[in-house]
Amino acid sequence: MVPVIALVGRPNVGKSTLFNRLTKSRDAIVADVSGLTRDRQYGEASWQGKPYIVVDTGGITGEEAGLDMIMAGQSLQAIEEADAVLFLVDSRAGRTAGDELIAEHLRKRNKHTYLIANKIDGADPDAILGEFSKLGLGAPIGISASHGRNINPMLDAVLNDEAWDQVATDEDGVPLVVEAIGTKIAVIGRPNVGKSTLVNRMLGEDRVVVFDQAGTTRDSIYIPYERHDKPYTLIDTAGVRRRGKVFEAIEKFSVIKTLQAIQDANVVIFVVDAREGIVEQDLHLLGFVLEAGRALVIAVNKWDGMENEEKEFVKTELQRRLIFAQFADLHFISALHGSGVGLLYKSVDKAFESAMTKIPTRRMTEILEDAVTEHQPPMVNGRRIKLRYAHLGGSNPPIIIVHGNQVDSVPRSYTRYLENTYRKVLKLAGTPIRVEYKGGD
Ligand code: GDP
Ligand code: GDP
Repeated sequence: MVPVIALVGRPNVGKSTLFNRLTKSRDAIVADVSGLTRDRQYGEASWQGKPYIVVDTGGITGEEAGLDMIMAGQSLQAIEEADAVLFLVDSRAGRTAGDELIAEHLRKRNKHTYLIANKIDGADPDAILGEFSKLGLGAPIGISASHGRNINPMLDAVLNDEAWDQVATDEDGVPLVVEAIGTKIAVIGRPNVGKSTLVNRMLGEDRVVVFDQAGTTRDSIYIPYERHDKPYTLIDTAGVRRRGKVFEAIEKFSVIKTLQAIQDANVVIFVVDAREGIVEQDLHLLGFVLEAGRALVIAVNKWDGMENEEKEFVKTELQRRLIFAQFADLHFISALHGSGVGLLYKSVDKAFESAMTKIPTRRMTEILEDAVTEHQPPMVNGRRIKLRYAHLGGSNPPIIIVHGNQVDSVPRSYTRYLENTYRKVLKLAGTPIRVEYKGGD
């Protein structure tokens, strides 16, 4: 599972500065899923090649309203759902009453909590240690978010902490184990688009054998099953079979849960409500799917009971708005009545197969050579860009590593041309493809 790290602290301690620094190279996918989350921000980041999710909880004020009020709602949920909490304090401001209140709350939670003293630039390290150790959360790790000081050692202390290796348990102390088999499918989408209805349909299909050992991680459910003798694991974010948990009452839909399901899936079924079309929140969530490179099938749900004219309009509109996810199959279904649900599996299987494809280097190079012959890369500074050979550098998504000279100057349009060529020749459908370059000038 991809770890989730929540940034917590009073206003102005530097949470958003740290958030931006951790997610900076990937700021395109920082989602402010407004409406659902108010002022929370979510981002994907990685450390030593391993992805993690970072959440800026924004809303905790600490001082004025008393802790119960402050902690209620969204920020509380973010803390509950996180694996680790980075509790930020301001080295320049010193320890405040607000810090004390937040610390008191965090001490009671069974969370990996790390005390982070920000703004150490220009502050006295010994004074910081003495001051903040009194919060009862151990010695602070000093950083400067704005100057980028000590960020990597902090990440090392947090993400490589052995304490994380403990097995998670449910509220009865039963270990939570996930034994996924076959293709991992995540069904995601905004609230009320019909995810639970679809999950039930998919599991209720003819010749579906659902195994007993469904596992829970935090509050997504992993349901292993077979359909036509093919193994799958459905990652259910909608909570079809979920038992009650504290934060459920606050918010059924959870961005964190959705992000984790995306990260952990092979194929995402993205559910859209035909009657509402694509709204901003859909685009944010889709942005995460694309950034994670997951295979994708789009299910336009509630297709029942729509007038023909309306259907035509919705189709055109969806195709226009989903132009950036053109590789994904679009299905018009009714989860309620079951129509179109069987066909989804065809696309899921194809997308999975494409995402996991294995092609020998020799074949990859042949395709490159043909593409280059057909269409030469441009000249740069009087020299032509040379692309020499290619190999498959990864799967789900397929990563095509192209070796050559002056590769830093390959225009985006040429990269797209290569992507499209590989997609066409290898008949890859339902998965994004990434072309990356290696080589010098
Ligand atoms: P948030 O309200 O906790 O999200 O805090 P912000 O990230 O908005 O930061 C509040 C202010 O502190 C801004 O003016 C930042 O530029 C400043 N700041 C953040 N990190 C540092 C730091 O490491 N050193 C210094 N000197 N200022 C910082
Ligand atoms: P979730 O929040 O995404 O899990 O959505 P639910 O599965 O709980 O569905 C939300 C509402 O939409 C419920 O009232 C469902 O009965 C309804 N619904 C789900 N699928 C369909 C569908 O295909 N057609 C119609 N007309 N209603 C549907």
